Amino acid sequence: MIRSEIRALLLLLAPLTLLVPLLGCGGDETPVSPAPSQTIVIGIDALDWQVVDPLLEAGELPNLAALANVATSGVNLSFVPLEKSPLIWASMATGLEPEDHGVGGFLKGRDEDYETLASAGDWRSPAVWDIAGAAGRRSCVIGWWVTYPARAIEGVMVSDHVSYTEAGSRNPDGMVQPAALTDEVAALVVDWRDVPDDLVRRLVPTVTDAQLADPDDQRLRELRVVLAGDLTYLATARHLADREQWDLFAVYLRGLDLMCHKFWVYMDPGDAREPAADDRALYGDVVPNYVRLLDDWLGELVAMFPADANLVVVSDHGFHGPRRDRSGTIRKGVAEHRPDGALVIRSALYRQGTRFDRTFVLNMGPTLLALMGLPPSQEMPGRVMRDHLTDAGLSYVEHLEQHRIGSYAALAPAPPPEVAEDPALDAAVKKQLRSLGYVD
Ligand SMILES: [Zn+2]
Repeated sequence: MIRSEIRALLLLLAPLTLLVPLLGCGGDETPVSPAPSQTIVIGIDALDWQVVDPLLEAGELPNLAALANVATSGVNLSFVPLEKSPLIWASMATGLEPEDHGVGGFLKGRDEDYETLASAGDWRSPAVWDIAGAAGRRSCVIGWWVTYPARAIEGVMVSDHVSYTEAGSRNPDGMVQPAALTDEVAALVVDWRDVPDDLVRRLVPTVTDAQLADPDDQRLRELRVVLAGDLTYLATARHLADREQWDLFAVYLRGLDLMCHKFWVYMDPGDAREPAADDRALYGDVVPNYVRLLDDWLGELVAMFPADANLVVVSDHGFHGPRRDRSGTIRKGVAEHRPDGALVIRSALYRQGTRFDRTFVLNMGPTLLALMGLPPSQEMPGRVMRDHLTDAGLSYVEHLEQHRIGSYAALAPAPPPEVAEDPALDAAVKKQLRSLGYVD
């Protein structure tokens, strides 16, 4: 199937299109989605109900609680054995197995050569924003994994690499498409040295002024670097949210996963060595405090968009801290993850205030497409999440499932623009991956 055929089919199937009755192609039988097609995705790496639920029950996450009241929530089950985040987010964005979308880990290939970072050129298959673009929809995508160099989409793409603020002399090439937006997005980047002390105090309330002023305090520096990354994505989201009425707006926040990797042990050492008591006292609540901070940001993001827009909060996996393997070695990196991620979907397709057991990460692509009123393809092994669909939602989803497109392969992205090599950026990314235990 070629691009123009896919486009014609999408125009026939998409809701609210006036073309259907005009073309006389079963217009009366084409159900209209009970939901508007505008879809907002808030990706929160490593969000886990095990951490969230006690805070929810204590009334400490008012924005997530309000959202859950009008949404369906449950577990987004990740790949087992556990896979790295870039691969999972690409599987959710494409609805495809890793072998079919081409995005491996943090570095090129699945057996990482520890040399070359993964790049946007690794994507061999279209993401939901490419499919939406073929249907004439406009997307704004911020911070999604493996989007450097940013490539042209129908809309705006801000690369995940925009958040590596330690790179200092970083070259802004490849950070955003259209490239004309480079200067205004570059101006939004939050340098870790500019992260307000008040925000640091929210994570480590007993920190002293002397500690805050100490430039050699490595852990506080790491805390600021992580905060700066999410603050950068948030600033970009604020800046771009109302630039136009986006059909798809997706923003990814990585900070929670990083905070978990760096600070979980102070809350729960698990199999790892017991940290010093004063470190436990200082850093023991960083993880729940970060979730509280995320709740503030969630409230702000939700309020930026119409209350009837589809809204998805999704994570790629959960977290349980360092574990000892059979040989007795403490495993870090992906071994600290657990497969149970979190998912919240607010949409007129689904019953409000419901809780489902679990869905699978490969159902995410078809589900996002269905929210936008677009059919999945027959290449996608997952299916639209069915739990708690309303009656109208169910008949609409069945219609989309029956009209799966054979293949979206013709919408595969063109290679990203060539950008000059940037050794400082490369080094900053690798340094962070190494500090997390993801690469040696
Ligand atoms: Zn992680």
